[in-house]
Amino acid sequence: MLTRSALIYLSRKEGLKEFAARFSLFKKLTTRFIAGETIDEAITAIRELNSHGCTASFDHLNESVGSAAETEAEVREYLDVLAQIDATGIDSNVSIKLTQFGLDIDAELAYQNARRIVEDAARRGNFVRVDMEGSNVTQVTIDIFKRLRSEFGLNEVGIVVQSYLYRTENDVRDLLKIPARIRLCKGAYNEPPEVAFPEKHKVDENYVRVMQLLLSSGTYHGIATHDPKMIDATTNFAQREGIGKDAFEFQMLYGIRRDLQEQLARDGYGLRVYVPYGKHWYPYFMRRLAERPANIWFVMKNLWK
Ligand SMILES: Cc1cc2nc3c(=O)[nH]c(=O)nc-3n(C[C@H](O)[C@H](O)[C@H](O)COP(=O)(O)OP(=O)(O)OC[C@H]3O[C@@H](n4cnc5c(N)ncnc54)[C@H](O)[C@@H]3O)c2cc1C
Repeated sequence: MLTRSALIYLSRKEGLKEFAARFSLFKKLTTRFIAGETIDEAITAIRELNSHGCTASFDHLNESVGSAAETEAEVREYLDVLAQIDATGIDSNVSIKLTQFGLDIDAELAYQNARRIVEDAARRGNFVRVDMEGSNVTQVTIDIFKRLRSEFGLNEVGIVVQSYLYRTENDVRDLLKIPARIRLCKGAYNEPPEVAFPEKHKVDENYVRVMQLLLSSGTYHGIATHDPKMIDATTNFAQREGIGKDAFEFQMLYGIRRDLQEQLARDGYGLRVYVPYGKHWYPYFMRRLAERPANIWFVMKNLWK
Protein backbone atom coordinates (compact mmCIF):
# COMPACT_ATOMS: atom_id res chain seq x y z
CA MET A 1 0.00 0.00 0.00
CA LEU A 2 1.42 3.40 -0.99
CA THR A 3 1.49 5.75 1.98
CA ARG A 4 0.89 9.50 1.91
CA SER A 5 4.59 10.28 2.40
CA ALA A 6 5.63 7.80 -0.32
CA LEU A 7 3.29 9.50 -2.79
CA ILE A 8 4.54 12.95 -1.83
CA TYR A 9 8.11 11.64 -2.26
CA LEU A 10 7.20 10.33 -5.74
CA SER A 11 5.58 13.69 -6.55
CA ARG A 12 9.07 15.22 -6.56
CA LYS A 13 10.38 12.73 -9.15
CA GLU A 14 9.76 14.62 -12.41
CA GLY A 15 11.20 11.66 -14.40
CA LEU A 16 8.20 9.58 -13.37
CA LYS A 17 5.96 12.17 -14.99
CA GLU A 18 7.39 11.36 -18.40
CA PHE A 19 6.65 7.71 -17.71
CA ALA A 20 3.12 8.38 -16.41
CA ALA A 21 2.30 10.76 -19.27
CA ARG A 22 2.85 7.93 -21.78
CA PHE A 23 -0.29 6.25 -20.50
CA SER A 24 -3.12 8.20 -22.06
CA LEU A 25 -5.43 6.71 -19.44
CA PHE A 26 -3.29 8.13 -16.63
CA LYS A 27 -3.50 11.53 -18.29
CA LYS A 28 -7.27 11.16 -18.63
CA LEU A 29 -7.52 10.52 -14.89
CA THR A 30 -5.77 13.81 -14.18
CA THR A 31 -8.70 15.71 -15.70
CA ARG A 32 -10.58 15.13 -12.46
CA PHE A 33 -8.19 17.53 -10.69
CA ILE A 34 -6.68 19.57 -13.55
CA ALA A 35 -8.66 21.87 -15.83
CA GLY A 36 -6.52 21.19 -18.93
CA GLU A 37 -3.14 22.08 -20.38
CA THR A 38 -4.00 25.51 -21.85
CA ILE A 39 -5.33 28.87 -20.64
CA ASP A 40 -8.39 28.42 -22.87
CA GLU A 41 -9.29 25.14 -21.16
CA ALA A 42 -8.91 26.79 -17.75
CA ILE A 43 -11.13 29.68 -18.87
CA THR A 44 -13.84 27.22 -19.96
CA ALA A 45 -13.67 25.55 -16.53
CA ILE A 46 -13.85 28.92 -14.76
CA ARG A 47 -16.85 30.09 -16.82
CA GLU A 48 -18.65 26.93 -15.70
CA LEU A 49 -17.72 27.59 -12.05
CA ASN A 50 -18.82 31.23 -12.33
CA SER A 51 -22.19 30.05 -13.67
CA HIS A 52 -22.63 28.09 -10.41
CA GLY A 53 -21.89 31.13 -8.28
CA CYS A 54 -18.23 30.26 -7.59
CA THR A 55 -15.23 32.52 -8.19
CA ALA A 56 -11.81 31.10 -9.09
CA SER A 57 -8.05 31.37 -8.80
CA PHE A 58 -5.83 30.43 -11.77
CA ASP A 59 -2.81 28.27 -11.00
CA HIS A 60 -0.36 27.65 -13.82
CA LEU A 61 1.20 24.35 -12.80
CA ASN A 62 4.96 24.48 -12.52
CA GLU A 63 7.15 24.42 -9.45
CA SER A 64 10.82 24.18 -8.53
CA VAL A 65 11.75 25.79 -11.86
CA GLY A 66 15.51 25.43 -12.46
CA SER A 67 16.48 28.15 -14.96
CA ALA A 68 16.02 31.91 -15.23
CA ALA A 69 14.72 31.49 -18.81
CA GLU A 70 11.98 29.16 -17.58
CA THR A 71 10.97 31.65 -14.87
CA GLU A 72 10.63 34.31 -17.59
CA ALA A 73 8.21 32.01 -19.45
CA GLU A 74 6.20 31.65 -16.22
CA VAL A 75 5.97 35.43 -15.80
CA ARG A 76 4.75 35.77 -19.40
CA GLU A 77 2.17 33.05 -18.85
CA TYR A 78 0.77 34.86 -15.80
CA LEU A 79 0.74 38.24 -17.56
CA ASP A 80 -1.25 36.54 -20.31
CA VAL A 81 -3.64 35.02 -17.74
CA LEU A 82 -4.27 38.44 -16.17
CA ALA A 83 -4.94 39.94 -19.61
CA GLN A 84 -7.30 37.06 -20.49
CA ILE A 85 -9.24 37.49 -17.24
CA ASP A 86 -9.92 41.09 -18.26
CA ALA A 87 -10.65 40.23 -21.88
CA THR A 88 -13.12 37.45 -21.08
CA GLY A 89 -14.71 39.06 -18.00
CA ILE A 90 -14.45 35.86 -15.94
CA ASP A 91 -14.38 36.23 -12.15
CA SER A 92 -10.94 35.03 -11.11
CA ASN A 93 -7.71 36.05 -9.44
CA VAL A 94 -4.35 34.22 -9.66
CA SER A 95 -2.22 32.04 -7.37
CA ILE A 96 1.55 31.81 -7.79
CA LYS A 97 4.34 29.68 -6.34
CA LEU A 98 7.66 31.40 -5.69
CA THR A 99 9.68 28.32 -6.73
CA GLN A 100 7.97 28.74 -10.09
CA PHE A 101 9.58 32.18 -10.32
CA GLY A 102 13.06 31.05 -9.34
CA LEU A 103 13.14 30.75 -5.54
CA ASP A 104 15.42 27.68 -5.79
CA ILE A 105 17.84 29.69 -7.95
CA ASP A 106 17.90 33.11 -6.30
CA ALA A 107 15.40 34.71 -3.88
CA GLU A 108 15.91 38.14 -5.49
CA LEU A 109 14.95 36.72 -8.90
CA ALA A 110 11.78 35.20 -7.40
CA TYR A 111 10.90 38.51 -5.76
CA GLN A 112 11.49 40.52 -8.97
CA ASN A 113 9.40 38.08 -11.01
CA ALA A 114 6.56 37.99 -8.47
CA ARG A 115 6.66 41.78 -8.31
CA ARG A 116 5.98 42.01 -12.05
CA ILE A 117 2.85 39.90 -11.65
CA VAL A 118 1.57 41.80 -8.61
CA GLU A 119 2.21 45.14 -10.32
CA ASP A 120 0.22 44.09 -13.39
CA ALA A 121 -2.59 42.62 -11.27
CA ALA A 122 -2.77 45.81 -9.16
CA ARG A 123 -2.99 47.92 -12.33
CA ARG A 124 -5.93 45.77 -13.43
CA GLY A 125 -7.64 45.80 -10.01
CA ASN A 126 -6.94 42.09 -9.55
CA PHE A 127 -5.33 40.08 -6.72
CA VAL A 128 -2.34 37.71 -6.45
CA ARG A 129 -2.14 34.96 -3.85
CA VAL A 130 1.34 33.69 -2.98
CA ASP A 131 0.96 29.93 -2.30
CA MET A 132 2.93 28.32 0.53
CA GLU A 133 5.31 25.47 -0.32
CA GLY A 134 7.60 23.20 1.78
CA SER A 135 8.91 24.31 5.20
CA ASN A 136 12.42 24.87 3.75
CA VAL A 137 11.00 27.98 2.04
CA THR A 138 8.38 29.16 4.59
CA GLN A 139 10.49 32.00 5.98
CA VAL A 140 11.76 33.28 2.63
CA THR A 141 8.21 33.13 1.23
CA ILE A 142 6.94 35.24 4.12
CA ASP A 143 9.87 37.65 3.71
CA ILE A 144 9.18 38.13 -0.01
CA PHE A 145 5.46 38.48 0.66
CA LYS A 146 6.13 41.20 3.27
CA ARG A 147 8.31 43.05 0.77
CA LEU A 148 5.53 42.89 -1.83
CA ARG A 149 2.92 43.89 0.73
CA SER A 150 4.95 46.97 1.71
CA GLU A 151 4.74 48.10 -1.93
CA PHE A 152 1.19 46.97 -2.80
CA GLY A 153 -2.20 47.12 -1.15
CA LEU A 154 -4.11 44.70 1.08
CA ASN A 155 -6.40 43.81 -1.84
CA GLU A 156 -3.54 43.33 -4.30
CA VAL A 157 -1.41 40.59 -2.76
CA GLY A 158 -2.03 37.90 -0.12
CA ILE A 159 -0.34 34.84 1.36
CA VAL A 160 -1.06 31.27 2.53
CA VAL A 161 -0.43 29.61 5.90
CA GLN A 162 -0.54 25.89 6.79
CA SER A 163 -2.10 24.67 10.05
CA TYR A 164 0.22 21.63 10.21
CA LEU A 165 3.23 23.88 11.04
CA TYR A 166 3.93 24.71 14.70
CA ARG A 167 5.06 28.20 13.70
CA THR A 168 1.82 29.16 11.93
CA GLU A 169 -0.11 30.69 14.83
CA ASN A 170 2.77 33.10 15.53
CA ASP A 171 3.17 33.85 11.81
CA VAL A 172 -0.52 34.69 11.58
CA ARG A 173 -0.43 37.01 14.61
CA ASP A 174 2.53 38.76 12.99
CA LEU A 175 0.97 38.96 9.49
CA LEU A 176 -2.34 40.28 10.84
CA LYS A 177 -0.52 43.31 12.24
CA ILE A 178 0.46 44.47 8.71
CA PRO A 179 -2.48 43.62 7.95
CA ALA A 180 -2.49 40.84 5.33
CA ARG A 181 -5.08 38.77 3.53
CA ILE A 182 -4.41 35.13 4.38
CA ARG A 183 -5.52 31.77 2.97
CA LEU A 184 -5.59 29.10 5.66
CA CYS A 185 -5.03 25.48 4.58
CA LYS A 186 -3.86 22.33 6.39
CA GLY A 187 -0.69 21.87 4.30
CA ALA A 188 0.17 19.42 1.53
CA TYR A 189 3.90 18.60 1.86
CA ASN A 190 5.91 15.96 3.75
CA GLU A 191 7.10 17.66 6.92
CA PRO A 192 9.13 16.19 9.79
CA PRO A 193 7.79 16.18 13.40
CA GLU A 194 10.37 18.86 14.27
CA VAL A 195 8.33 21.44 12.32
CA ALA A 196 4.81 20.03 11.89
CA PHE A 197 2.16 18.26 13.98
CA PRO A 198 2.34 14.56 13.05
CA GLU A 199 -1.18 13.89 14.42
CA LYS A 200 -4.11 14.83 12.21
CA HIS A 201 -6.29 15.89 15.17
CA LYS A 202 -3.64 18.45 16.20
CA VAL A 203 -3.51 19.84 12.64
CA ASP A 204 -7.30 20.19 12.80
CA GLU A 205 -7.25 21.79 16.27
CA ASN A 206 -4.68 24.30 15.05
CA TYR A 207 -6.76 24.92 11.93
CA VAL A 208 -9.76 25.89 14.09
CA ARG A 209 -7.60 28.07 16.36
CA VAL A 210 -6.09 29.96 13.40
CA MET A 211 -9.46 30.20 11.60
CA GLN A 212 -10.88 31.96 14.68
CA LEU A 213 -7.95 34.40 14.73
CA LEU A 214 -8.53 35.16 11.04
CA LEU A 215 -12.29 35.62 11.25
CA SER A 216 -11.96 37.87 14.31
CA SER A 217 -9.41 40.11 12.58
CA GLY A 218 -11.82 42.15 10.46
CA THR A 219 -9.77 41.45 7.29
CA TYR A 220 -11.13 39.34 4.39
CA HIS A 221 -9.48 35.90 4.43
CA GLY A 222 -9.80 32.55 2.60
CA ILE A 223 -10.72 29.41 4.55
CA ALA A 224 -9.41 26.65 2.27
CA THR A 225 -10.64 23.15 3.09
CA HIS A 226 -12.94 20.33 1.96
CA ASP A 227 -13.27 19.05 5.50
CA PRO A 228 -16.92 19.33 6.65
CA LYS A 229 -15.71 19.54 10.27
CA MET A 230 -13.57 22.62 9.49
CA ILE A 231 -16.40 24.15 7.46
CA ASP A 232 -18.93 23.63 10.27
CA ALA A 233 -16.47 25.05 12.82
CA THR A 234 -16.12 28.13 10.60
CA THR A 235 -19.82 28.74 9.93
CA ASN A 236 -20.68 28.10 13.62
CA PHE A 237 -17.98 30.49 14.84
CA ALA A 238 -19.07 33.17 12.36
CA GLN A 239 -22.72 32.86 13.43
CA ARG A 240 -21.82 32.93 17.13
CA GLU A 241 -19.63 36.03 16.71
CA GLY A 242 -22.00 37.84 14.34
CA ILE A 243 -19.47 37.73 11.48
CA GLY A 244 -21.23 38.15 8.11
CA LYS A 245 -21.06 35.59 5.28
CA ASP A 246 -19.44 38.27 3.12
CA ALA A 247 -16.58 38.87 5.61
CA PHE A 248 -14.58 35.82 4.39
CA GLU A 249 -14.66 33.15 1.67
CA PHE A 250 -14.31 29.40 1.53
CA GLN A 251 -11.84 27.99 -0.98
CA MET A 252 -11.62 24.49 -2.48
CA LEU A 253 -9.64 22.70 -5.17
CA TYR A 254 -10.92 22.06 -8.68
CA GLY A 255 -12.71 18.72 -8.88
CA ILE A 256 -12.88 18.06 -5.13
CA ARG A 257 -16.26 18.04 -3.35
CA ARG A 258 -18.10 19.85 -6.13
CA ASP A 259 -21.37 19.11 -4.28
CA LEU A 260 -20.11 20.97 -1.21
CA GLN A 261 -18.77 23.84 -3.34
CA GLU A 262 -22.14 24.43 -4.96
CA GLN A 263 -24.04 23.94 -1.67
CA LEU A 264 -21.96 26.61 0.13
CA ALA A 265 -22.39 29.01 -2.80
CA ARG A 266 -26.17 28.39 -2.73
CA ASP A 267 -26.13 29.05 1.04
CA GLY A 268 -24.71 32.51 0.33
CA TYR A 269 -21.03 31.94 1.23
CA GLY A 270 -18.24 33.16 -1.02
CA LEU A 271 -16.69 30.08 -2.64
CA ARG A 272 -13.47 30.31 -4.63
CA VAL A 273 -12.17 27.33 -6.59
CA TYR A 274 -8.44 26.92 -7.21
CA VAL A 275 -8.10 25.98 -10.88
CA PRO A 276 -4.79 24.35 -11.86
CA TYR A 277 -3.88 23.96 -15.50
CA GLY A 278 -0.76 23.35 -17.57
CA LYS A 279 1.61 20.64 -18.73
CA HIS A 280 3.48 20.23 -15.44
CA TRP A 281 0.60 18.52 -13.65
CA TYR A 282 2.55 15.61 -12.15
CA PRO A 283 3.59 16.87 -8.65
CA TYR A 284 0.21 18.54 -8.05
CA PHE A 285 -1.66 15.41 -9.16
CA MET A 286 0.43 13.16 -6.90
CA ARG A 287 -0.21 15.41 -3.86
CA ARG A 288 -3.96 15.12 -4.52
CA LEU A 289 -3.66 11.32 -4.66
CA ALA A 290 -1.72 11.39 -1.39
CA GLU A 291 -4.55 13.21 0.38
CA ARG A 292 -7.07 10.42 0.05
CA PRO A 293 -6.43 6.66 -0.16
CA ALA A 294 -9.65 6.24 -2.18
CA ASN A 295 -8.07 8.31 -4.97
CA ILE A 296 -5.19 5.83 -5.30
CA TRP A 297 -7.61 2.89 -5.57
CA PHE A 298 -9.57 4.81 -8.18
CA VAL A 299 -6.38 5.25 -10.28
CA MET A 300 -5.16 1.66 -9.72
CA LYS A 301 -8.53 0.17 -10.65
CA ASN A 302 -8.67 2.16 -13.87
CA LEU A 303 -5.05 1.51 -14.87
CA TRP A 304 -5.38 -2.23 -14.35
CA LYS A 305 -8.82 -2.61 -15.95
C1 LIG B 1 -7.92 26.54 -2.37
C2 LIG B 1 -6.81 25.73 -1.80
C3 LIG B 1 -5.52 26.19 -1.88
C4 LIG B 1 -4.47 25.46 -1.32
N1 LIG B 1 -3.21 25.99 -1.30
C5 LIG B 1 -2.23 25.33 -0.66
C6 LIG B 1 -0.94 25.90 -0.46
O1 LIG B 1 -0.67 27.03 -0.89
N2 LIG B 1 -0.01 25.18 0.19
C7 LIG B 1 -0.27 23.93 0.71
O2 LIG B 1 0.61 23.32 1.33
N3 LIG B 1 -1.47 23.35 0.54
C8 LIG B 1 -2.46 24.02 -0.12
N4 LIG B 1 -3.69 23.44 -0.25
C9 LIG B 1 -3.87 21.99 0.08
C10 LIG B 1 -4.22 21.77 1.54
O3 LIG B 1 -3.10 22.07 2.34
C11 LIG B 1 -4.65 20.31 1.81
O4 LIG B 1 -3.63 19.44 1.43
C12 LIG B 1 -5.91 19.90 1.10
O5 LIG B 1 -6.82 20.95 1.02
C13 LIG B 1 -6.61 18.75 1.85
O6 LIG B 1 -6.97 19.18 3.13
P1 LIG B 1 -8.49 19.38 3.62
O7 LIG B 1 -8.55 20.67 4.37
O8 LIG B 1 -9.41 19.28 2.48
O9 LIG B 1 -8.70 18.27 4.72
P2 LIG B 1 -8.46 16.70 4.73
O10 LIG B 1 -8.60 16.30 6.19
O11 LIG B 1 -7.23 16.31 4.02
O12 LIG B 1 -9.70 16.16 3.91
C14 LIG B 1 -11.04 16.30 4.37
C15 LIG B 1 -11.97 15.67 3.35
O13 LIG B 1 -11.91 16.40 2.13
C16 LIG B 1 -11.96 15.54 1.00
N5 LIG B 1 -10.66 15.61 0.29
C17 LIG B 1 -9.55 16.23 0.67
N6 LIG B 1 -8.57 16.11 -0.24
C18 LIG B 1 -9.09 15.36 -1.23
C19 LIG B 1 -8.57 14.85 -2.45
N7 LIG B 1 -7.33 15.12 -2.87
N8 LIG B 1 -9.39 14.11 -3.24
C20 LIG B 1 -10.66 13.84 -2.86
N9 LIG B 1 -11.20 14.28 -1.71
C21 LIG B 1 -10.43 15.03 -0.90
C22 LIG B 1 -12.21 14.17 1.54
O14 LIG B 1 -13.62 13.97 1.62
C23 LIG B 1 -11.61 14.24 2.94
O15 LIG B 1 -12.13 13.29 3.83
C24 LIG B 1 -4.75 24.18 -0.74
C25 LIG B 1 -6.06 23.72 -0.65
C26 LIG B 1 -7.09 24.47 -1.15
C27 LIG B 1 -8.49 23.97 -0.99
